[in-house]
Amino acid sequence: MRSALPRALGSAASRGFWQSRAFVPRVWQSSSLKATTLSVRSLSSTPCLRSLDDDPDRKWSTPLAKQLADAISATGPVPLASFMRMCLTADIGGYYTGAIEEGRDQFGLKGDFVTSPEISQVFGELIGIWFVTEWMAQGKQSQGVELIEVGPGRGTLMDDMLRTIQKFGPMANSIDAVYMVEASPQLREVQKTLLCGADATMTESKVGWHSVCKYMSVPIVWTDTVKSIPNASEKMPFIVAHEFFDALPIHTFQCVEVPATQDIKPSPSDLSSPSTRTNQPTVQWREMLVSPTPPGSTHDTLRTPPSQSRDTPPPDFQLTLAQANTRHSLYLPESSPRYRAIKSQVGPGALIEVCPDAALYASDFAARIGGSAQYPKPQPKGAALILDYGPGDGTVPTNSLRGIRRHRRVSPFAEPGLTDLSADVDFAGIAESAVRASEGIEVHGPVDQGTFLDLMGIRERAEMLIKAATASATTDEAKQYAANIEKAWKRLVDRGPGGMGKVYKALAVLPENEGRRKPVGFGGDVVA
Ligand code: SAH
Repeated sequence: MRSALPRALGSAASRGFWQSRAFVPRVWQSSSLKATTLSVRSLSSTPCLRSLDDDPDRKWSTPLAKQLADAISATGPVPLASFMRMCLTADIGGYYTGAIEEGRDQFGLKGDFVTSPEISQVFGELIGIWFVTEWMAQGKQSQGVELIEVGPGRGTLMDDMLRTIQKFGPMANSIDAVYMVEASPQLREVQKTLLCGADATMTESKVGWHSVCKYMSVPIVWTDTVKSIPNASEKMPFIVAHEFFDALPIHTFQCVEVPATQDIKPSPSDLSSPSTRTNQPTVQWREMLVSPTPPGSTHDTLRTPPSQSRDTPPPDFQLTLAQANTRHSLYLPESSPRYRAIKSQVGPGALIEVCPDAALYASDFAARIGGSAQYPKPQPKGAALILDYGPGDGTVPTNSLRGIRRHRRVSPFAEPGLTDLSADVDFAGIAESAVRASEGIEVHGPVDQGTFLDLMGIRERAEMLIKAATASATTDEAKQYAANIEKAWKRLVDRGPGGMGKVYKALAVLPENEGRRKPVGFGGDVVA
């Protein structure tokens, strides 16, 4: 159990330099209709096969790097999304699923990055209150409420939310179950220990892994995908995703001009693609693929940019531009009018990132709240709150993939499985997918995290905590604790460099009500 002087008791000063993932500096900025070009090495016919043959004894930086290189030597270069998926969630050696050494985790000072719930308990408390306000505004249903979190990390956010919701008796009593969507068996265990106790047992079923929460004794169910959570029309799902969407794999495409009467064989990784023949120059999307770097590469020969630390071994892999269509380049960049506008208005050189998994999750949330053809819902209900970083002005992310290790930016292709990978979240894309998936929902935001938390009353809540801490004790420790709380909450709303108030955004999905009621934190008032 957390003490009354909780996680902030560590020194705030030491917290100050923990990096959040959004802060690791980037080389390129997002832009929508601005042409952005990326220098990628052109893909010769079979570079990876040749380089592997050249040096069968090549040393790879991690076992996962070797596994990826073996796979690429069999199939040819792979889409960035396949590479990311393996690096983050491969059964063996994925960043979240096992590669991290014993005694170390991804989060906090000794890990790679820090997130808002880990910085201050006030963050999770206010998210809990946000769901209480939605429950009130939607008629205070007395049963059938589900709390769903995707990508719960250490479980800290859900712990703070539940501790807060517990104080609102009627809502607490309405909760049927808590669902945690978590790919990592290790993190599931960490979450279970925090939310249920170290001795609580987990039992397995067809749906997932079950235990009982220390708050309100509600059942908690862990699944490894949101699809495994049963969908029933009478349920009121309250869904939270904090720094989850940025960890989903992206594809990246570049617009190129294809000269007339060119006949190009499909990429070796995609034998199903048709060849490309054109009678006049056309502008087409080409996918960026991942292939091994040449044997003997160094940071110098690979020209690792100055924004990336050279303390890692040289990257094992690099991005190359496919010479022909791949399966994904034929349909993903054509799937949204926003991408089509970039192709026609920017043309050759334009780069976009597309995250099909984000679209799947957004569609799932929307269908759960608003109903869909597959899951009709006579009365839409519930809400989703998505907090993450990415452009808030509708522009499509570009060049935002980053590798993070020990609070520093590194090459995303260095030490696969030991390096955290993330990319900007396309909030406009999430909104588009949600609206397309269900007629029963509407989307609010994104708004800056600073605005959202200010409107949720972060200052007042932090001041209460500070007052309580200093009222009970006047020791140096209590004073230090109060200073820590102050520093922590201000970092969450700070809109300047290093602060999290502007870069991070909040987006809400609500039952459709013709925009008449805005949610709290997005300009709306509490409806009692
Ligand atoms: N929300 C937490 C953790 C963010 S890190 C916080 O803010 O502190 C991303 C989380 O998503 C981790 O728990 C990771 O294991 C999980 N995750 C990443 N990819 C996933 C996937 N494809 N499916 C399910 N969980 C995933």
